[in-house]
Amino acid sequence: MSNSLMIVDDSATMRKIIMRTIRMSGLEMDSTEEAGNGKEALEKLSSSPVDIILCDINMPEMNGMELVKKVRELSNCNDTKIIMVSTESSQELIDELMAGGANGYITKPFTPEKFQDKLSPFMN
Ligand SMILES: [Mg+2]
Repeated sequence: MSNSLMIVDDSATMRKIIMRTIRMSGLEMDSTEEAGNGKEALEKLSSSPVDIILCDINMPEMNGMELVKKVRELSNCNDTKIIMVSTESSQELIDELMAGGANGYITKPFTPEKFQDKLSPFMN
């Protein structure tokens, strides 16, 4: 069993902050990769799926909502868990993302404890 992670966010700084927060949370990932938008993420995932995706919503090229739907069409990502990470926190949007195939939602600002809470149920 292993735990592979992909962080999808158009901000390189935010990807670094998320990575650091994951480390602080004590969650042990076997591998971590990054993508700068949904399109880049989808290209990587189609050849090498991951266990957990942490996904921004507002991104150029392909946003988080589109990425969730596309990942759910990939047969090699059936078991992939998608957790959204965003400042947008309207219940309507969250409902729409969950209906589209997302598995969880973390609002910014986040803490190591929030990551621990939302990700540990999905860790192998
Ligand atoms: Mg963004």
